[in-house]
Amino acid sequence: MHPFSYTRVSDTREALDAGRRGGRYIAGGTTLVDLMRETVERPGSLVDITGLPLREVSVTERGGLRVGALVRMAEAAAHPKVRTLYPVISEALELSASAQLRNMATIGGNIMQRTRCTYFRDVSAACNKREPGSGCAALEGFNRSHAILGTSDDCVATHPSDVAVAFAALEATVHLLGPDGERQVPFTDFLLRPGRTPDREQALRRGELITAVEIPALPRPLKSGYLKVRDRQSYEFALTSAAVALHVRGGVIREAKVAAGGVGTVPWKLPAVEQHLVGERPSQSLWAAVAARAADGARPLEHNRFKVELLQRTVERQLRIVGGMK
Ligand code: SF4
Repeated sequence: MHPFSYTRVSDTREALDAGRRGGRYIAGGTTLVDLMRETVERPGSLVDITGLPLREVSVTERGGLRVGALVRMAEAAAHPKVRTLYPVISEALELSASAQLRNMATIGGNIMQRTRCTYFRDVSAACNKREPGSGCAALEGFNRSHAILGTSDDCVATHPSDVAVAFAALEATVHLLGPDGERQVPFTDFLLRPGRTPDREQALRRGELITAVEIPALPRPLKSGYLKVRDRQSYEFALTSAAVALHVRGGVIREAKVAAGGVGTVPWKLPAVEQHLVGERPSQSLWAAVAARAADGARPLEHNRFKVELLQRTVERQLRIVGGMK
């Protein structure tokens, strides 16, 4: 591990000062410390923000939910408001990582986590994300777990977070605080597709800190849930996943929120699926017809062609679970 300095801050002003000087924020550390041990990440200065007052889950004035950036994954998953209003968030969190990690890792850190691409974590391999301009070993290598949507010629790595898929589906907003003040960014704009700069992963400005994720109020009743398909039943990342939320009134779907995970370089919102659900009556034939569009635009690689059909089946199955089997 490379040498680094460590500072623990107790208020946001102190944190922002340290961030502006190039300090790297750390909270649970469950991703960053691993990467530092493997010398994939080599920050010169760590700023421990666990003492900041960002650990609250609250209902907003408009009836949405605000989850502080330092709320632990396990705390968020168990919170009564999260469980009642947005089960899709609780389910996504509970299907992530191990219980020990969920007790340490924070919501802010979870959405900032870096890809599980094995070449990214192998410092002897070419990787544009780790070392811009060095190439991408996954393109010609073993790419079974890689993305089929949102890829570029420079990077095909998936985003590994489950709860980020739920946030994308629900059209959450990321609250940021930086040297220039507060701002909010739609979740689907916060995580960046690789393009020509796969090393740039979030729409963060220098020194900015995530303070919360806000989920908007959605019409009630709202049924929601998260399905994760993986090679083994626990402690594994998604091959495919689907976050679905449906508002059905008078037997008609009035609102539909759908996103997929394990297949995109970012959590993959499915607007074509959503649009084809709204105004329709729930039925098995509807689920099958709209799920067939889930992989529109996919560009599979040599070893991950199976993800196209697996994604369609995952979305169809989760629509059936959330929306019923009529
Ligand atoms: Fe690196 Fe992305 Fe290629 Fe993986 S897919 S080796 S993260 S550039």
